[in-house]
Amino acid sequence: MRAVLTRQLAGGSSPGSSVVSGGPPNPLVVNISARHVHLTEEHVEVLFGKGAKLEPMKWLYQEGYYAANQTVTIFGPRRRMIPDVRVLGPCRNASQVELAFTDGISLGIDLPVRISGDHRETAGCILVGPAGVVELKSGVIRAMRHVHMSPADCAYYGVKNGDAMDLKIHSGPCSTTLEHVTVREDKDVKLEVHIDTDEGNAVDLAHATKVELVKPVGCGCHTK
Ligand SMILES: [Zn+2]
Repeated sequence: MRAVLTRQLAGGSSPGSSVVSGGPPNPLVVNISARHVHLTEEHVEVLFGKGAKLEPMKWLYQEGYYAANQTVTIFGPRRRMIPDVRVLGPCRNASQVELAFTDGISLGIDLPVRISGDHRETAGCILVGPAGVVELKSGVIRAMRHVHMSPADCAYYGVKNGDAMDLKIHSGPCSTTLEHVTVREDKDVKLEVHIDTDEGNAVDLAHATKVELVKPVGCGCHTK
């Protein structure tokens, strides 16, 4: 992982910034996932009107995924709200809201850290769009930081789906290693780490000079 770094310009509301490190088998891309919402087709129609479809505004790094033109307002339990939260497409089987801890504090929602799609014992919220309102009973999470890997990436790093990796970020005085970056293996994905805005700001990702993904090595004290 010794390669020249380039920096991608990231406009729009998500992702905020990204760092790319070259190297075999694929360049390592670290992107910040800004707060966002995934919706079912049914909820899109409730929020944006009958027959409404998500409209791609900006394509994301993973093929087929996009930030939509549409946004919603999120209300928490005490009517505190966050406006203009971007909807990401395509639609899913269950609606989900992904927020940073800072967002949860301002909304008054205690966010559990979850892998996307795991809605057990999660809080809900109210989503408001131009055409209607959806009350989610659950599905508000702080996404567990993760790395998307193809089978070839997994083989290269010697890891499998669900494993935890370390992400070393070289970023001057904000240099940090983030542990428990969960491997999410899929057939047709590009190697990409997703962290949230709190994490990205804490490590000053915008000024990072190098990122490395490392398989944690046991210290030996747990071997039997
Ligand atoms: Zn992701």
